[in-house]
Amino acid sequence: MGAEAKRVKREVLGIPDRHKHRERASEPPTGRTKDPGTHQRTYRYRFYPNPTQAQQLAQTFGACRWVYNEGLALRANAWREHRVSVGFAETCRALTGWRNARETSWLQDISSTVLQQSLRHLDSGFTRFFKQAGSHPKPKRKGKSRDSATYVRTGFRWREDPGRPGTGLISLAKQTEPLDVRWSRPLPPGQTPVKLTVTRDRTGRFFLQILVEEQITRLPAAVIPGTTMPRAVGLDLGLAALVTMDDGSTVDHPRLLKKYARKLAQLQKELHRKEKGSANRGKVREKLARLYTTVTDVREDALNQLTTRLVHENQVLVVEDLAVANLTRAASGTGRRRKAKLNQSIKDAAWGTLLRMLQYKCEWYGRTLVIVDRFFPSTRRCSSCHTKGERLDVSVRFWTCGMCGVAHDRDVNAAVNLRQEGLRLYAHVLAALPPERRPPAVIRASELPDPVVAA
Ligand SMILES: [Zn+2]
Repeated sequence: MGAEAKRVKREVLGIPDRHKHRERASEPPTGRTKDPGTHQRTYRYRFYPNPTQAQQLAQTFGACRWVYNEGLALRANAWREHRVSVGFAETCRALTGWRNARETSWLQDISSTVLQQSLRHLDSGFTRFFKQAGSHPKPKRKGKSRDSATYVRTGFRWREDPGRPGTGLISLAKQTEPLDVRWSRPLPPGQTPVKLTVTRDRTGRFFLQILVEEQITRLPAAVIPGTTMPRAVGLDLGLAALVTMDDGSTVDHPRLLKKYARKLAQLQKELHRKEKGSANRGKVREKLARLYTTVTDVREDALNQLTTRLVHENQVLVVEDLAVANLTRAASGTGRRRKAKLNQSIKDAAWGTLLRMLQYKCEWYGRTLVIVDRFFPSTRRCSSCHTKGERLDVSVRFWTCGMCGVAHDRDVNAAVNLRQEGLRLYAHVLAALPPERRPPAVIRASELPDPVVAA
């Protein structure tokens, strides 16, 4: 490797050699020390570009897509044909080459940092793939993939409005006028945004996602009154209910609301009647896409309220590892297939969103999310006497323990088991911590040493 890989990269793949920045290397690192109460948080706003801005953004989206695909091809080919691995830094050097080449000189009209971010996204895609947490990155296709462009600090200007703190003027690189942003709520005042992501959805609406570093105050510890025991909840994620808690209460899945379902069915029928490629078909598609975004917004809202409540009420929250949780698909195919399929995808998305929200809210507010291992028999174990029973079919909702005779609701029993196991792991991690150290925001059983998990 080494010299040979370098030659392949230079001669075959056309990646220029790295320039040495000797003077830069001697500078001290510029990373700021992070305040422990500081968290990154994203705010989303709609904005209305003027025609020039819209055109420039369309060009930017196209260029980002092109660079992403080109970077992907470079990395994939380098590996397939030469067994040479090409990383982020090398794709950036290749980008410089593309910008300088005559046939792709149009890339110079786009801010180079924005294009680099596109390569950064590609790199994260590969990282997830190598960690087996995602599939191999795929080329982005116009009209199929979401239009998006990311601007880091040097790619935009921000001037806060002293009259309305938390709002202000945002100008993007290569644009002259600031964006017309609808400030539906202010950003935390006095904060300079860290990163911006501009997106355009399928209906042509533009959104601005603003990442800021925000000081979030931890909540006071939630303990059982009169004790120092943490308040804890076991959450069983399932098909019948989105969440079943160990006290027996449940939260329903954010199903497709009736009024949307009717509208959706109507639009889909309309779509099939329209001629392919016609302008009217396009209009119906647009309406459909808009309806889907509404459904998504309603769902996110409901999950936000639920997770905020859970995190406020409890110190320790226990869930099962989602990747392997008992999420056996409900059988569908009884005529209303499309609706069933959509409801299924809403459920799928709800579990993921729920866990993601719990995770970052635990971090923000000083709580702990315990993710119990996949080998923990949460469903089969009797929560009263801890006997491990037979494997239960998905259809079994109630069962009685053969050992102690206690009757169980399948999901509540699982939630109680999760709570017990989560508290056990939490206590174990806590005992191993030096005094005055806070427990971590996330405890993953799969990352703890084996005897702890098996105990
Ligand atoms: Zn039992």
